[in-house]
Amino acid sequence: AYNTEWLQQQDNQHYLHPFSDHKTLREQGARMIVRADGVYIWDSDGNKILDGMAGLWCTNIGYGQSRLAKAAFDQMNELPYYNSFFQCAHPPVVELAKTIGELAPAHMNQVFFTGSGSESNDTVLRMVRHYWTLKGQPEKFTIIGRHNGYHGSTVAGASLGGMKPMHSQGGLPIPGIHHIPQPYWFGEGGDTTPEEFGIQAARELESAILDIGADKVAAFIAEPIQGAGGVVIPPDTYWPEIKNILARYDILLIVDEVICGFGRTGEWFGSQYYGLEPDFMPIAKGMTSGYMPMGGVIVSDRVAGTFEQEGGEFFHGYTYSGHPVAAAVALENIRLIQENKLVEYVKNDIGPYLQTAWQTLSDHPLVGETRGVGLLGALELVKEKAGRVRFDSELDVGGMCRTLSVSNGLVMRAVGDTMIISPPLVISHSEVDELVSKAREALDLTMEALQA
Ligand code: PLP
Repeated sequence: AYNTEWLQQQDNQHYLHPFSDHKTLREQGARMIVRADGVYIWDSDGNKILDGMAGLWCTNIGYGQSRLAKAAFDQMNELPYYNSFFQCAHPPVVELAKTIGELAPAHMNQVFFTGSGSESNDTVLRMVRHYWTLKGQPEKFTIIGRHNGYHGSTVAGASLGGMKPMHSQGGLPIPGIHHIPQPYWFGEGGDTTPEEFGIQAARELESAILDIGADKVAAFIAEPIQGAGGVVIPPDTYWPEIKNILARYDILLIVDEVICGFGRTGEWFGSQYYGLEPDFMPIAKGMTSGYMPMGGVIVSDRVAGTFEQEGGEFFHGYTYSGHPVAAAVALENIRLIQENKLVEYVKNDIGPYLQTAWQTLSDHPLVGETRGVGLLGALELVKEKAGRVRFDSELDVGGMCRTLSVSNGLVMRAVGDTMIISPPLVISHSEVDELVSKAREALDLTMEALQA
């Protein structure tokens, strides 16, 4: 048994939470999550909650996979730590790099390892600039990201991302980063069709390149589907147009796969879902299913070849780059995904099943749009369906819906008034049914609260 009250008191006095409003925490007390199995988590008061977010989009393999615990235990006994600086390596990191290289698009075969998605994006920023310097074009320096993109919380990650509240708290972005609008049709598409809007949003990239000067633009960074920005699924016309523009001006493409990687879209990587040929793919989360902290950057042959041919040391690395225990867990996690054919399961079975069930929520009076790909989904909450009229943001209807949903047994996340889900890939049909009916209950409870 847990003493929830005592834990909450200690939490309030000593623990500075990431991404939390500390005043609300003090008033309400943190929910203490004490154990998990499959797609469920339990809190210290014994409540069982379906984790519709796979933690933070990461427990792809679900909870309670004892093979991952054994992989960690065995590796800790064999070689708990060693680094890969100064011409060293160890078997788990080599095997992991080989495995990931085989899963990635054919032109990407080398991996640099980090401890998280944020570190992966810091690494990318340095690699991009290193690449153009080696190419004799150091003035190709600016990286273009997108409003509401999320690439992590370190200084470079938060700068590459386009989250306004993050920028305003830390004097970000750092110099040499520019942001363009996101391809968010529901919120910003006005009277256009999604197809028209996709082209229009992609052309924002071309305008920015021409404004800055193509000889000064190093790379474009984007998530295949913007996750933390609200599961923003680009119209079909968007990525093909972006590809044309990047090719026209010789600009590198960074596809942030931290959420979409390792099966979430029904392909190993979101780049494969959209037919992209990135130069860099930052990865993390699903690579270990969150059982160990680990990230990486998968690099194209063009970039890796330049690093090799032009020689010299790349002065970059982390104590925990390629940590052997994390690498062993990542390998076992990937083996489990393969043995259970989970990527195929998302593509052909549970993904379509979830999307069909999710669509049924569009008849709810609060829902202006339902959308999704693979095991990602979003609901737009609206005051009036016609004309996509939103609630006053002061009301925080999304936050209300999230709180009511969790208390009612389903973790959904709110991004403004967009409710999002990203459940573990192992979710069963009956668990999807439960997820969707609990989402409907949360919408009903929100309606009641609004009318009260
Ligand atoms: N990139 C994307 C697309 C993410 O969603 C996240 C985390 O949510 C990150 C990067 C940062 O990863 P981490 O929190 O592991 O540093």
